[in-house]
Amino acid sequence: MSLQRVTILGATGSIGASTLDVLARHPERYCVFALTANRQVERMQALCLAHQPRYAVMADVDAAEQLAAGLRKHGGETEVLAGVAALSKVAAHPEVDQVMAAIVGGAGLPATLAAAEAGKRVLLANKEALVMSGALFMRAVQESGATLLPIDSEHNAIFQCLPSHALDARALGASPQLPSAGIERIWLTGSGGPFRTRAIETLPAVTPAEAIAHPNWDMGAKISVDSATMMNKGLEFIEARWLFDVSADSIEVVVHPQSIVHSMVAYRDGSVLAQLGQPDMRTPIAHALAWPERMDAGVQPLDLFQMQVLEFSRPDLARYPCLRLAQEADVVGGVAPVVLNAANEMAVAAFLAGTLGYSEIAQRIEAALEQIQQGSVDTLEGVLAADAATRNWFAEAA
Ligand code: NAD
Ligand code: MG
Repeated sequence: MSLQRVTILGATGSIGASTLDVLARHPERYCVFALTANRQVERMQALCLAHQPRYAVMADVDAAEQLAAGLRKHGGETEVLAGVAALSKVAAHPEVDQVMAAIVGGAGLPATLAAAEAGKRVLLANKEALVMSGALFMRAVQESGATLLPIDSEHNAIFQCLPSHALDARALGASPQLPSAGIERIWLTGSGGPFRTRAIETLPAVTPAEAIAHPNWDMGAKISVDSATMMNKGLEFIEARWLFDVSADSIEVVVHPQSIVHSMVAYRDGSVLAQLGQPDMRTPIAHALAWPERMDAGVQPLDLFQMQVLEFSRPDLARYPCLRLAQEADVVGGVAPVVLNAANEMAVAAFLAGTLGYSEIAQRIEAALEQIQQGSVDTLEGVLAADAATRNWFAEAA
């Protein structure tokens, strides 16, 4: 295999750090072409000096100036670009082979879509981008011949449990034959988050610090809150619908507090295939980078003798109203998942800032979904307009 050039969108985040860790273990296979971030200058400067990318992009223009000045002082060779358009530029650059899409939230959509349109190998962590743009995104993958590989641990697990004959050489976008592959059900596992057993009547008092303390995974703040509310599983439900082209009633969410089984696929003949592993994102990242080969990820092997139990139960929708809202938005389709996602991003940001209560997250999302016009969206401009309208509504209703 020739040296693969990798762009990491969202390099300063949790997935970005895990990706750089895996890449650094295989300098003979990969080099870092571009790193991007929003405005974390110090962290980005350290990453640029360590990994020497050709480009570094800061979405925030002032941060880009600071980074450029810092790198000049330290003799860094990296060229610094500024602004959101530059995110798409380094995602679609002709010299790039693989793009890790790991910006958090809808902010990642334009660059992630640009990578798909340019026919790249897209490693998709940024689930919000797919939830917002499902049909548009999958069409871009098919038309450009991009290779789409899921990074979300559940979807990566499902991908690994699919029959290889149903996945053509270009992976997901080009595999519409999956529904006929004998698949009866997809079991989408989720830990249930930190409040799985907490008394429901005490949930309104949940603090941001409690919500971001996930029992099994070490992740960014937004996805940690989403895991507590199980909006994360709702977004993943919609993500799975697009990636695997399966009906809503063939995906079932199952609470599995140990986060060892990362999801399962049940077949018509009674077989259930599962992927197990440590809750460490370097496994799906290494899997997707090397696919269809396998390579070392730096992850501790799973010790079956240390594992006491693996539990499974149904999610309680009274405890997790966000999961219900996401599944309802999936049924409505069109603009509803865009509104769901934007309202959730606004609500989580307000919760983290201390201006919205934990239980109000679901209430505000439900109110947003009730007030929006239904309809379809099939262009990027349409998706971004619905996203902006929801954010405006949210800010004004506050
Ligand atoms: P994080 O908050 O740790 O990092 C987010 C990254 O996005 C940072 O590099 C930040 O600079 C960048 N960013 C944020 N806002 C931006 C903007 N407006 N413009 C440009 N860049 C911006 O998040 P994370 O936990 O690494 O998650 C990243 C994505 O991966 C999310 O979509 C998340 O749902 C998904 N994901 C994460 C995990 C995990 O274990 N962390 C697991 C599965 C999926
Ligand atoms: Mg996940």
